[in-house]
Amino acid sequence: MSDAAPRDFIRQIIHDDLETGKHDTIVTRFPPEPNGYLHVGHVMSICLNFGVAAETGGHTFLRFDDTNPGKEDQEYVNAIESDVRWLGFDWEDRLTHASDYFDGLYAAAEKLVEKGLAYVDSLSAEEIREYRGTLTEPGKDSPYRGRQVEENLDLLRRMRDGEFGDGEHVLRAKIDMSSPNMNLRDPALYRIRHITHQRTGDTWCIYPMYDFAHTLSDAFEAITHSLCTLEFEDHRPLYDWLLDQVRPANRPRQIEFSRLNLAYTITSKRKLGALIDAGVVSGWDDPRMPTIAGMRRRGYSAAALRDFVARAGVTKKDKLIEMGMLENSVRESFGDSAERRMAVLKPLKVVVTNYPEKQIEMMRAMNHPNDANMGTREVPFSRELWIEQDDFMIDAPRKFFRLKPNGEVRLRSAYIIRCDEFVTDSNGTVVELHCTYDPDTRSGTGSSDRKVKGTIHWVSAEHAVDAEVRLYDRLFTEVNPNTADDPNSLLNPNSLESVAAKLEPTLADLAVGEAVQFERLGYFSPDVVDDSASSRVFNRIVTLRDSWAKIEKQAMQGQN
Ligand code: ATP
Ligand code: MG
Repeated sequence: MSDAAPRDFIRQIIHDDLETGKHDTIVTRFPPEPNGYLHVGHVMSICLNFGVAAETGGHTFLRFDDTNPGKEDQEYVNAIESDVRWLGFDWEDRLTHASDYFDGLYAAAEKLVEKGLAYVDSLSAEEIREYRGTLTEPGKDSPYRGRQVEENLDLLRRMRDGEFGDGEHVLRAKIDMSSPNMNLRDPALYRIRHITHQRTGDTWCIYPMYDFAHTLSDAFEAITHSLCTLEFEDHRPLYDWLLDQVRPANRPRQIEFSRLNLAYTITSKRKLGALIDAGVVSGWDDPRMPTIAGMRRRGYSAAALRDFVARAGVTKKDKLIEMGMLENSVRESFGDSAERRMAVLKPLKVVVTNYPEKQIEMMRAMNHPNDANMGTREVPFSRELWIEQDDFMIDAPRKFFRLKPNGEVRLRSAYIIRCDEFVTDSNGTVVELHCTYDPDTRSGTGSSDRKVKGTIHWVSAEHAVDAEVRLYDRLFTEVNPNTADDPNSLLNPNSLESVAAKLEPTLADLAVGEAVQFERLGYFSPDVVDDSASSRVFNRIVTLRDSWAKIEKQAMQGQN
């Protein structure tokens, strides 16, 4: 096992199992249901399952839990495969489906019937619910519970052969209707559904229930450690009961860990799908979505996501993790590697009145302030420039070191300018600044060693590349929308702001998939879907500083 990986309680168990010789090879599985796109919670499960196997020279199955025909879709299957690969994991030839085992599952069901451990129930779904009892009251036996093996076998086969309609019968395990654990009150193993399955077509009209299919699939694949989230803790007695009856050659062990929940977002495929249905986001890959596809389109790197879940850690206690922590991992992944560029998001025109009309100078700018090896580039300077509206204030406080009337500021990699005049429109909004530059202050080569407190970014108006830049914010205003009945009522109306920005000319050729830092503004990358050479669209991946830190810290109090 790699020393780099911190040894959480699951890695400790696995380490011990190897040490004692209980297992020679670790086999895990990641078992998504293809009913939506994977989200940040799944990243944790993927990194854990593939991670522990890779660290010990074991292997991992990617198994689609496709026992719920009608809700599942090939689009989701494709997306899940591509997301897992993008995260950096490889299942090699171990791509499976629960439906691959439909024959074996059915055979196991007949075996249980033959052993008197399962029976066909003919109560309606509603009656079954009533008979099941509650957490405080025991259930009661179905009148069909006493059916003999022969009759059960005959009914099960006729269920399989399509003689009955949906819901007429169900196959149940015969365990204990008064068990304090509701999962052991004769859970359903098979139900009738006359529906075409995306892989097995119309071969079957009965489909196995999740617990049955999942447990036996683990056994068929000789999984050693079946890692799942805490809500399955109550299912473990059933998992173990099934293994006790079926006695597979390899007995997997189920271990639960806590779900990863992320502040200001939701981690449920169903609820994420509802955001799409409501038209709140543009799709599963909307860059505001906590889906792998969305985070990838936004520009997050796979390394940043892996780093984030490693920091969040594998534990037994459900907890909400700060969004700031995810963003920190993202920020750190770019800090040393992303080149710097200049871009103006909310442009204000500056006319340098003493600069010759037709003159253009190429200014040399460093690609990274701390790493000369990353080289330099040339940025054109001319008489008309764009600066950020926020970098000018008429009535500026004393500590405002950007531009103000009669104030001076350095233009990054260029000159010091002074603001002589500002022009306003009829609403009083500043629309243009008239400035003068000091020719002796050219960065690097100027004869003057005059210093000013502030440095701002700028773009030459004549040379600027127009771009749509999309700025993202939290999707929800509430720190834990997961627990809300209707998370769609807690949406942040400002989660997307689109601005018409002006970029320095080198950004005309930045390739999709590349990320740069727009100085002072954050990390940005061209949008994979909407960007084109003729009309550039950039996403802000993450800001440079965590502007939410304080609010989030307060909101998180009492959450964990
Ligand atoms: P959802 O409610 O989003 O559909 P799920 O648990 O039903 O989630 P599955 O496709 O069944 O989704 O999940 C595949 C695996 O990912 C399971 O082992 C599940 O336990 C794990 N998983 C799902 N959500 C999280 C989460 N938030 N944190 C950690 N693991 C998760
Ligand atoms: Mg599910």
